[in-house]
Amino acid sequence: MTIIQDIESVVGEKGLITGKDVFNRKAGIWIDDGIRADAIVRPKDTLELSKVLAICNKNKQAVIPHGGLTGLAEGAITQQGQIAISSERLTAIEEVDEIGRTMTLQAGVPLEKAQEEAEKYNLMLPVDLGARGSCTVGGNISTNAGGNMVIKYGMMRDSVLGLEAVLADGQVMTSMNQMLKNNSGYDLKQLFIGTEGTLGYVTKAVLRLREKPKSTNTALLAIDSFDGVIKFLKFIDKGLGGSLSAYEVMWKNFYELITVTGSNHNPPLPCEHNYYVLIETSGADQEKDTGHFEHLLEQGLSNQIIKDAIIAQSESERSRLWAIRDDVEQHYQEGPVKMFDVSMPISEMENYVQEVNKRFAANWDDYKCVVFGHVGDGNLHVIGGIGSDNLKEIKIMESCIYEPLKPINGAVSAEHGIGLEKKNYLHISRSETEINLMKSLKKALDPNNILNPGKVFD
Ligand SMILES: Cc1cc2nc3c(=O)[nH]c(=O)nc-3n(C[C@H](O)[C@H](O)[C@H](O)COP(=O)(O)OP(=O)(O)OC[C@H]3O[C@@H](n4cnc5c(N)ncnc54)[C@H](O)[C@@H]3O)c2cc1C
Repeated sequence: MTIIQDIESVVGEKGLITGKDVFNRKAGIWIDDGIRADAIVRPKDTLELSKVLAICNKNKQAVIPHGGLTGLAEGAITQQGQIAISSERLTAIEEVDEIGRTMTLQAGVPLEKAQEEAEKYNLMLPVDLGARGSCTVGGNISTNAGGNMVIKYGMMRDSVLGLEAVLADGQVMTSMNQMLKNNSGYDLKQLFIGTEGTLGYVTKAVLRLREKPKSTNTALLAIDSFDGVIKFLKFIDKGLGGSLSAYEVMWKNFYELITVTGSNHNPPLPCEHNYYVLIETSGADQEKDTGHFEHLLEQGLSNQIIKDAIIAQSESERSRLWAIRDDVEQHYQEGPVKMFDVSMPISEMENYVQEVNKRFAANWDDYKCVVFGHVGDGNLHVIGGIGSDNLKEIKIMESCIYEPLKPINGAVSAEHGIGLEKKNYLHISRSETEINLMKSLKKALDPNNILNPGKVFD
């Protein structure tokens, strides 16, 4: 019997895709190529997955966990000879505990479905990102996704109370803790959060929900200096006393492409300023909170930090403002570009962007360096374009982005992960001792190196 036949005897015909049908599936949300793998396995539950992994481990068969394939670090890329294991049939939401404010669900549930389920109970899952409709909770856990509300609620890690994962040899580690406090020994779930499917396959989770805010205020601000951007962040965060839930910044060239050149959206504010800040608050009393929010914005306008502002007056206006920030795909229409995801102390951002531009200019006469990001979280996204997708040139562009991070203790990945894409740059943000410890963990949990081999490090 071949491995594939062995696996089929566990998951049945419905649980297996082979032959041409594998390549007919797209390898990623923004990848034109099809999936290159010997098979895609679709287990219907933890038990099936456990048996599949036991077979693969015995045969030293490489397997790549697949969620919604929206990852942006080549973490789910497969090649011939490997087997993809998709969570697409693990889509049950098992329980919402209104009192404990938890949701228990399987890993293949799309993030948006989980958000909608929480809403039914007037609760909120405080993790949100542009790929919400396609990405899965399992993928969010495995990449420790960030997104739009990190400044208030933290990253995915902060919303995971417990999880279940299948280890490389098929053992099931059930650690479905529901409590906020549990210091009974090592917090083993952390091994599977942000480790990109290299230490285990996440099958279930207990997520922490929050009370849904009763008020939201959203505004788009125009500011001319980066100093003003950070001064206003400090001012408004302090003034709001903890209710700031997003501080997203678009550099002028981002805003211009989305609202003028690409003209997908009308510019809510004229495109004549250097920075556009999308700011959002969440609180408990709409009338009172709006009054206070407007008062703080007025102060920003009167002391000249803010040059112009528009406040969303309805949910549809709010969505329109967010749609500008979320329309990252528009940049991909402009020739070959690559998106980078880095973090650094907020005070270093302006110098960092200048340094990257200087390095780009030293290498290419004509280039694109479009910047936006979750500035409140110290996270920038840079869209780099050099008019070519030649590998040698791309490597130069990568070093223009990553090298300046070293002296400022920045991170080569803020929220997307390392995958295949950044493993050559991991040493910029992690010491040799740290990387060696990561390798020791990998060896201990996956001695045959079958789980997502070659991702994060070699
Ligand atoms: C438009 C857009 C906007 C985005 N915005 C953000 C953002 O704001 N913040 C952010 O952090 N990311 C963002 N992303 C990136 C992406 O959506 C996240 O990384 C997301 O968490 C990936 O989830 P997924 O289900 O698509 O995972 P996949 O892409 O399928 O996989 C990602 C990684 O996780 C592993 N994996 C998947 N499922 C499992 C599992 N069950 N067990 C073990 N390993 C698994 C894979 O092997 C791979 O290494 C964005 C992407 C797009 C396309």
